[in-house]
Amino acid sequence: MSKFLCQRLQTLEAYTPGEQPRDKKYIKLNTNESPFPPSQGVISAITAGEIEDLRLYCDPECKALRQALAGLYQVKPENIYLANGSDDILNFAFMAYGQAGAAFADITYGFYSVFAQLNGIAADVIPLKEDFTLDVDGFCNQNKLVVIANPNAPTGLEIPLSDIERILKTNPNSVVLIDEAYVEFGGISCVELTRNYSNLLCVKTFSKSHSMAGARLGYAIASEALIADLETIKYSTNPYNINRLTQIAGTKAVEENDYYRENCKKIMANRDYTVSELEKLGFSVLPSKANFIFAKSDKIDGLSLYQKLKEKGVLIRHFEKPRIRDYNRITIGSRAEMEIFITKVTEILGEAL
Ligand code: PMP
Repeated sequence: MSKFLCQRLQTLEAYTPGEQPRDKKYIKLNTNESPFPPSQGVISAITAGEIEDLRLYCDPECKALRQALAGLYQVKPENIYLANGSDDILNFAFMAYGQAGAAFADITYGFYSVFAQLNGIAADVIPLKEDFTLDVDGFCNQNKLVVIANPNAPTGLEIPLSDIERILKTNPNSVVLIDEAYVEFGGISCVELTRNYSNLLCVKTFSKSHSMAGARLGYAIASEALIADLETIKYSTNPYNINRLTQIAGTKAVEENDYYRENCKKIMANRDYTVSELEKLGFSVLPSKANFIFAKSDKIDGLSLYQKLKEKGVLIRHFEKPRIRDYNRITIGSRAEMEIFITKVTEILGEAL
């Protein structure tokens, strides 16, 4: 740290992204990426001509992509905000709506507490219940920014829409942000509720279901007034926040949405397979509606399993937080990847005996 860093940031504990090692080729089940490539139209749309055009600035309004998403969700382009990954939207939301503080769960996406700290916002951390479900009552009548991932990460548990509606109704004077990074894998989206609740900010991403984590594309759906707030911050920080190639890729991906829906179904089937194989090996696995599962074994601790799998070329995610130290988060990849994963876990359990 330099002596020049402002005092407010000196104690900031930055987010630790999942490992992206380059030393060898791993079976990567640690950062919830898709095992499938982007659709054919996306691949062919990135032509040499488009690359030559990188000398020009991109469209700051992202008109084509906004229009495509508006068509997909049957909303107006004014209800859609586009960002360089959904993390950017989360940051903007804390910046814009966190004046009275922000409430989020103890076990949830780790970036929420970082954004609270970064923006100097008091965090009200509401513990999940013993079974890792959301303490819905705890989120009611908060009158501060409420941030909930649905399905939650890293647990994969779904929060019923009726609970979200109760939280929306009891927080009429503050924004409720629902982070739907993983909703396409069997969850139910709250997009429809944005028509009735002007305080609902629904945040989504192309990183998981749409095979574009490396392109950095996230979006929010909400009332026109909330979207206008985010636009104001964008035009005050980085108007050209979505690069030309990502805008093209995103627009094509929306046109080819059926391909991605099919991929999500395949991942859900691979999830069923993985859960049943892990259960045969004695693991307990939380019921997941995401493209990952959260599992613990009574034969080996979470850290050792993570380390031994890494030695065998399979990466999964382990968290140090005491409450979830026994667990690992395992991304659901292709069927072949999950078969190798199960084989390696079986070997490790055999060695541990
Ligand atoms: N929300 C949740 C719950 C996530 O797990 C992630 C991925 N780490 C994100 C948001 C951010 O995704 P991205 O910035 O790639 O859109």
